[in-house]
Amino acid sequence: MIMYDFYQIIGQLIFIAGIVIILLLSLSLILGKILIRQNRLIFPKLLLFTLDMFYGPFKKFSENLGLEEKIVDQIGVEVRNKVNKKAFENSEPGERLLILPHCLRNADCEAKLDSSGLKCTDCNRCVIGPLKKKGENMGYKVFIIPGSTFLKKIAEKNKFKAVLGVACYQDLNLAMMKLSNFSCQGVPLLKDGCINTKVDYNEVLEKMGAIEPKKKIRGVSCNTKQDKRSYI
Ligand code: SF4
Repeated sequence: MIMYDFYQIIGQLIFIAGIVIILLLSLSLILGKILIRQNRLIFPKLLLFTLDMFYGPFKKFSENLGLEEKIVDQIGVEVRNKVNKKAFENSEPGERLLILPHCLRNADCEAKLDSSGLKCTDCNRCVIGPLKKKGENMGYKVFIIPGSTFLKKIAEKNKFKAVLGVACYQDLNLAMMKLSNFSCQGVPLLKDGCINTKVDYNEVLEKMGAIEPKKKIRGVSCNTKQDKRSYI
């Protein structure tokens, strides 16, 4: 009888915990949607708690509701961008890393890969060259990397306070989560994938502090002739 009561209490506690988690995920989804649609950040700590503690269940939950696959990572990037914005802007460019994904490179890129990433030769055939040049001129340490294992090595080997990264929503959110002890900012790719990806060049410059926000022109990508003219 005592064992029966014990299992009954455990069952009730599990049931209550499940209800609490579902309510938490629902509330976080609503707050995330408000953030994305209205640019209003409400209860950032609650959102970050849900994103960090329940990342997998949160993705499954939103998937079951038929929402866009990227929604949870998009919320993660938006929250972290807003929460870290001031601290990032208060850091010196010399204390910042600029991390670019190698999938932005032109199909004819001849740069070689070494242990710190792709060694861009500034041929200007893709957006990486001008961004690297601009970043280095400002004082950033710039890395062009093929994956998160490089990011781990770079974080271990370099002294920095802030990071600006470009990646797809999922990689960006997970990298910003891992680097949460630093002031992170992220720019999501406009078109993701393994090759021929695109980024809004002006959005990256804006986050870097190289141009004023009002000069931002959305939709600039990296691989067409027109794009090339716009970023050189
Ligand atoms: S600018 Fe682009 S294509 Fe040229 S070397 Fe650098 S990464 Fe490769």
